[in-house]
Amino acid sequence: MAHPSYDISEIMGRVADKVAAMEPTSPEVIRAVTACHALRCGRGISRHEYRKSFPTTQIKQFWSHSWQGGWRSKITTLLFLHNHIPAVICSSLGALVVASLFAAKLLPGPEWDKELWIYPRGFWAMLVGPVIYLLVLLLWQPQQSVFLDIMCIDQEDPRQKASGMLSMGAFLKCSNSLLVLWDPSYTRRLWCIFELAAFLHTRPTGKKFKLLVRPLILGPCSVLLTLTMVVVVIAIGWVPQRDGLAGSEALWGGQVLVLFIGLWAMISVSRRYFRAVEQLRNELSHFSLEETECFCCQRNHVDRSGNPIQICDRMVLLQCIRTWFGTLEVFEQMVRREVLKCLLEELSSQFFTYRHCITATIPLLWSHLDMAGAMLHYLDQWPGRTWRSALDVAILRGAGWWLGVVPTLLVFSMRLSCAFRKKREGPFCDTLVTFGILLCTVAAFAGFVQFERYIMFLVGIFKDSLEIVVPHLSECVFLLSVLLAAAVAFFCIGIHPRSFTEVALPPQIGEPDSPNEPPAVLGRNQLSL
Ligand SMILES: [Zn+2]
Repeated sequence: MAHPSYDISEIMGRVADKVAAMEPTSPEVIRAVTACHALRCGRGISRHEYRKSFPTTQIKQFWSHSWQGGWRSKITTLLFLHNHIPAVICSSLGALVVASLFAAKLLPGPEWDKELWIYPRGFWAMLVGPVIYLLVLLLWQPQQSVFLDIMCIDQEDPRQKASGMLSMGAFLKCSNSLLVLWDPSYTRRLWCIFELAAFLHTRPTGKKFKLLVRPLILGPCSVLLTLTMVVVVIAIGWVPQRDGLAGSEALWGGQVLVLFIGLWAMISVSRRYFRAVEQLRNELSHFSLEETECFCCQRNHVDRSGNPIQICDRMVLLQCIRTWFGTLEVFEQMVRREVLKCLLEELSSQFFTYRHCITATIPLLWSHLDMAGAMLHYLDQWPGRTWRSALDVAILRGAGWWLGVVPTLLVFSMRLSCAFRKKREGPFCDTLVTFGILLCTVAAFAGFVQFERYIMFLVGIFKDSLEIVVPHLSECVFLLSVLLAAAVAFFCIGIHPRSFTEVALPPQIGEPDSPNEPPAVLGRNQLSL
């Protein structure tokens, strides 16, 4: 690799000193952009996007990413991180409104065909919920200030661009948190690692820093889970409940097919997610600056027009890291220890918490809102039912499936996906593994359906004497049992085994080697409501 001649090294030394000082070349160089503007920028971003940025002194979040990462996954993950919760709240409110209007007979519905359905059907919440969810997910305008390189550094004026690059340390210094959008190329890009180094350097030693590491597959994985739930809930909800009807076999076949396709996609993505996290864990624990790459060295210091590149990014950035951390080894150890520790902590407490699970499976709530609305809409055709008892049954059953059964099933399926995450070689081997996990999940689902029926049967035997004491006894017993199962699944079992987040951290430079020191063990995923 040919580096520029020695006489340029003094200039590079001065550049490195300027960057390492973490001061802006002028106060107006420090700029941010609102997250909603940054989210709109895709692959086809124009060079004029710089005009949307504004001068500031504080940046809420610095978005650090590798330009080699897939832009679709990046945008989906950012949309998920910023817009998922507003989308869940707005869509559920919309679903509640239309279900209430249907219950009050202000919205029309099909006739209740008692030959087909034991319970009446409604569809408004399942129609409106997904539409609002997708609209808010795509169009919500988060207003927090963020740094995105291509929008906050002028790409047209070479002087302004150089000024922005020299102030990169200053951008990181005034950022409150760093969001790493991780993909396999991230830890190999020197600029990405430099951003991480600068951020760590500006945080007080020993204090917890706001570093969020999110694999790019997180967004597609979570959004797919919600969309899968929509499809599965619709498929399950529209199969006739009465047995022996003409054509019901075909409908059942269709339902099973939809269920299989939805679960197949979810399990495949979960396995990829766990593989990605494992790769990230391994890359960080063996991190070395030697293996990082940068544009100028890769192009042998000749730009696209054939002109020589005078300043080598690698020499400047490594000099900055030396200025901040003393030696490159100290920084490498910091990445292997502190960044890895931060990642493990996030893995064990942040990813797929109970809250994440119930927001991702929100279509279940919409479908039960439909059920409640329909029960009230057709109440006059339902002898022996009062609006209160109809509503109680819908709420108890809905809560049981949404808050108990589905979270338990997902933990079960995730746990299997984590255990069998390794990609298998050989034709159909990997497909067979996914199929095996899918069959186990469907079997567990069938188990819960039977369990609910069994409880109804058991309570039915003593119905007359027991229901006076506790109304809707079978629904209450079912709800309590499945909530207990979900609590055991999330608190005691978790989506991955303890060993998945256990790594023997290397000793800090200057600390004596202590091979007998136990590995850092962090709590498994917590039930964080
Ligand atoms: Zn270079």
